[in-house]
Amino acid sequence: MLLIGSHVNFKESQFKGAVLQALSYEANTFMFYTGAPQNTFRSSLNHDLIKEAQELMKGKIALDKVICHAPYIINLANKDNLAAWNFSIEFLTNEIKRVQELGVKYIVVHPGNYLKLDVEVALHNIIEALNKILEQDQDVTILIETMAGKGTECGRNIEEIKTILDGVKNKDLIGVCLDTCHLNDSGVDLSKFDEYLDLFNKKIGLAKIKCVHLNDSKNIMGSRKDRHANIGYGTIGFTNLLNVCYHPLLKDVPKILETPYIGENAPYKEEIKMLKEKTFNPHLMEDVTLKN
Ligand code: FE
Ligand code: FE
Ligand code: ZN
Repeated sequence: MLLIGSHVNFKESQFKGAVLQALSYEANTFMFYTGAPQNTFRSSLNHDLIKEAQELMKGKIALDKVICHAPYIINLANKDNLAAWNFSIEFLTNEIKRVQELGVKYIVVHPGNYLKLDVEVALHNIIEALNKILEQDQDVTILIETMAGKGTECGRNIEEIKTILDGVKNKDLIGVCLDTCHLNDSGVDLSKFDEYLDLFNKKIGLAKIKCVHLNDSKNIMGSRKDRHANIGYGTIGFTNLLNVCYHPLLKDVPKILETPYIGENAPYKEEIKMLKEKTFNPHLMEDVTLKN
């Protein structure tokens, strides 16, 4: 069965609100931030809502395929700003505890920005940070996301991802999240996805892929821009995204949409429908806009 969902927010009734949104999109998985993605303010978890959420999920959403995403302002790569680096480690350590309370098994993390550092130094800092975070007693796996290479982002190619994974001591708790928009923007040709998977398998191993962010891209291959487009409305295109979505080697991996809202409305119900039916909807924009 296709595992498909989107990112949802945690604003209204926390985990329960996230589950209700996912169900309204007819998703069978989802990804959430435990607070705003842009900041690190986190309110305390309500345990009644967690129980209600887990109840609502029964038979519809597999908790062990649900994904959390860490906020993108944390930076594990720059140890030169020691206070910020330590804060990032502390924050992620706590975030993992919160995720564990929810029963969620995966948290996606952007590797970080190297800024003025040499990339090698930055990658070493990331490894050191991850090893500190993974020292705690926990069973949440950190998924390093493949990045577009915008600005000074680390994790722009298989080699950098491999370096990070190789340096992490706790191998059981480290994996990878592929983002199709980021792959395209970093220079991967998704019309030759098999070649990419083959290379990934040789260097890292396909078993490490635990999540796919399924997004189209507003920019051409290799642009290093990172601007997501709706499914079939970007440069990657519906056929290539469908191929990733249904790839037999990624069958058990949840696919998560992080595509842009259309006007005020989330497009996820309609995009999920397109992917389930394997049929491109040329009226997506109108259909989503006209919803309310
Ligand atoms: Fe991300
Ligand atoms: Fe992503
Ligand atoms: Zn992105």
